[in-house]
Amino acid sequence: MSRYSAFQLFVNAFTGHRSWPRAWRDPAPKPAYDVVIVGGGGHGLAAAYYLAKEHGITNVAVVEKGPIGLGNTGRNTTIVRSNYMFPQNHHFYEWSLKLWEGLEQDLNFNAMVSQRGVLGLFHSDAQRQVFARRGNSMRLSGIDAELLDRDQVRAFVPLVDLDNGRFPVMGGLLQRRGGTARHDAVAWGFARAADRRGVDIIQHCEVTGIRVAGNRVQGVETTRGFIGAKKIGLAVAGNTSRLAQMAGISLPIESHVLQAFVSESLKPMIDCVVTFGAGHFYISQSDKGGLVFGGNIDGYNSYAQRGNLPTVEHVWSAGVTMIPALSRVRVLRQWGGVMDMTMDGSPIICRTPVENLYIDGGWCYGGFKATPAAGWCHAHTIARDAPHEFNRHFTIDRFREGLMIDERGAGPSPWLQ
Ligand SMILES: Cc1cc2nc3c(=O)[nH]c(=O)nc-3n(C[C@H](O)[C@H](O)[C@H](O)COP(=O)(O)OP(=O)(O)OC[C@H]3O[C@@H](n4cnc5c(N)ncnc54)[C@H](O)[C@@H]3O)c2cc1C
Repeated sequence: MSRYSAFQLFVNAFTGHRSWPRAWRDPAPKPAYDVVIVGGGGHGLAAAYYLAKEHGITNVAVVEKGPIGLGNTGRNTTIVRSNYMFPQNHHFYEWSLKLWEGLEQDLNFNAMVSQRGVLGLFHSDAQRQVFARRGNSMRLSGIDAELLDRDQVRAFVPLVDLDNGRFPVMGGLLQRRGGTARHDAVAWGFARAADRRGVDIIQHCEVTGIRVAGNRVQGVETTRGFIGAKKIGLAVAGNTSRLAQMAGISLPIESHVLQAFVSESLKPMIDCVVTFGAGHFYISQSDKGGLVFGGNIDGYNSYAQRGNLPTVEHVWSAGVTMIPALSRVRVLRQWGGVMDMTMDGSPIICRTPVENLYIDGGWCYGGFKATPAAGWCHAHTIARDAPHEFNRHFTIDRFREGLMIDERGAGPSPWLQ
């Protein structure tokens, strides 16, 4: 498989770009693998890539029920950042951001990583305190964070209505290294790089059962037959509790719908990511010109990848309050994804009570930014049968032990996290 380069682009132009090799193979499943990763989203593909790259484990299959990257990886609003308050979270997400910063060179794939800055607005003295506390916590760990006043916010993102009668903007917390990445390119980049290292990516192969004997995994039952596995990693986002149940594990996870929206293409109007502090709304502009935005989860349990109209109205009203010019924008598309909401809003990457079964899940609506580090930590945990320092706290046991990582302070309410 050739390396992507400007030279290759030039050469392939002579054949009308019809001679590019396949980005990854389409192999039939082997009878058995050292590791089977279930789920061909960014997380599963990243885990397979890092298993091969960091641990030399290449007899690996990623088993995906549809085409890769069409789950939440291809449905999210593409925001990447590491502006979390709790050290358990911000060290992990900062490692992810560092991996994002070198990802395209590492994968030899253009994932359109754009560090355009993520700005969170605050609207009251109390909220400023909370934001300042989070920023200070980040800075103490060497992570960039800046508290902006009103004038600085105005200069950074001029279209925001600072003088809104109900929710005047007092300032914002900015992480300049945060930004966006092209979501599906991330899946394709990891897939191509994992394939180059010998990983089999098996699409259209749904896992229907997990075979366990003597509390140890044996392999997965799939729509293409049984595949043996010494170790199994689950990276199936909104289906985590379903898959875990196949091995007899009940997880503290609820599945909810989150919607996203994209507008018609417009001339450049927002060159950063900005989030509203008086409601749940975040927005950025894609390189094609579409405004990409979203809000809160729909708030009821569901496995359907579509949402309801009251949430559409809620998201739009928050958007128009923050940026009145949005009232004249037409929406092009709207869609939903299934979120695996944990009881404290923080993820799970750990061993399970079943031997050689590992889980990367519970991402709520923040797992895209985690993609490189989640794959990296999942691979580490599978290869070493022990967590890395970065995911040491993301256990299932924390819910039993009362060691919640309640970043938002919302208590054990998944629909509030
Ligand atoms: C609308 C929306 C907006 C979001 N915005 C952001 C954001 O801006 N920033 C951010 O950080 N995060 C965001 N997220 C969250 C983020 O998208 C997810 O947390 C992340 O993409 C999860 O990646 P994944 O690889 O674990 O899951 P997925 O990409 O969903 O991959 C899981 C895969 O598992 C497969 N699968 C499921 N069951 C089986 C089975 N039985 N057998 C085989 N395969 C199976 C699925 O088909 C799927 O492809 C958003 C999510 C949504 C829905």
